[in-house]
Amino acid sequence: MHLHLVCPNCGTVNRLVGERLRTHWREARCPSCRANLVPAEPIAVGAAGLMREIERTDVPLLVDFWAPWCGPCRAMAPSFAEAAAMMAPKVRFLKVDTEAEPEAGARFAIRSIPTLALFVGGREVARQAGAMQTPQILRWIEQVGGVQP
Ligand code: ZN
Repeated sequence: MHLHLVCPNCGTVNRLVGERLRTHWREARCPSCRANLVPAEPIAVGAAGLMREIERTDVPLLVDFWAPWCGPCRAMAPSFAEAAAMMAPKVRFLKVDTEAEPEAGARFAIRSIPTLALFVGGREVARQAGAMQTPQILRWIEQVGGVQP
């Protein structure tokens, strides 16, 4: 089975063998720019980058819609990063700054921040408003997405 992953650096869509992604994800590099294809930390994306990930990346995506002026968003950032390290390579963690990228927030009708949204197979399957700690984030992913660390 093959999986597609968008390169976080150059946007090239890469095709990987699923089995190899599970075992060798730390070494997965983009052939075009040599960037790490599966970073163990959240990836910052804009509106266009978000749509590209949703449309092309084959692993579940957890998106944090946040803004720099939002205290609870900043407070949740370390937990989100910790959960990202624990869930790689099974879930890809993305961050969208809704202040810098207002059309991304508008497109998904984000009414409050932080909001976490989980996308599986190109569709949003769940969202949750409000800051969460690492164990809550992991539990929520398992509950709504069926993915365990
Ligand atoms: Zn690349």
